[in-house]
Amino acid sequence: MRDQNCIFCKIANGEIPSAEVYEDELFRVILDMGPASRGHALILPKEHFKDVCELEEPYASRVLALGGKIGDAMKKGLGCTGFNLVQNNGKSAGQTVFHFHMHVIPRYDDNAPIVSWTPGSASPEELQETAAQIKSCL
Ligand code: 5GP
Ligand code: ZN
Repeated sequence: MRDQNCIFCKIANGEIPSAEVYEDELFRVILDMGPASRGHALILPKEHFKDVCELEEPYASRVLALGGKIGDAMKKGLGCTGFNLVQNNGKSAGQTVFHFHMHVIPRYDDNAPIVSWTPGSASPEELQETAAQIKSCL
C-alpha cells in the first residue's frame, strides 16, 4: 500500500526524481538531501510502513542485508572506513519522515562526531526490573 500524501512513497516509486544508488522490486536506495557525511543514503521500501513496528515481510527480513550491501559498496566506492545503520522510530527518537527508512551513513577517519550517547548507570536490580517490564509485554 502507498500513502498518497507521503513524499517517501513518491520517491521510492520513482514519481519524484532522486539521486538513486540502488533499486530492486522491494526497495529504492537514494542519497539523503541533508547528508550527515558524503554518501549518506536512505533505504526506502516501495510500500508505506510508518515505522519498524509496522514493517512487514519480505521487507523486514531483507532490509538489514541490504544495509550491509550498500555499506560495503560505500567502502569500496567512496573510501569510507566504516558506516552506521541508523533507523529512527517516533518523534522522540528523531523520526521526521513517517515512512520507514534506514539510514546508511558512511564514516571516514576524520573524527566527525559519531552517533553516540553519554553512558548512564543502573544497578543490577534496576536492570532486572526494567527487563521485566519489557518482557511482560512481549
Ligand atoms: P529521519 O529523521 O526521519 O530518520 O530521517 C529523515 C531523513 O530524510 C533526513 O535525514 C532528511 O534529510 C531526509 N529527507 C527528508 N526529505 C527528503 C527528500 O525529499 N529527499 C531526500 N533525498 N531526503 C529527504
Ligand atoms: Zn510512504
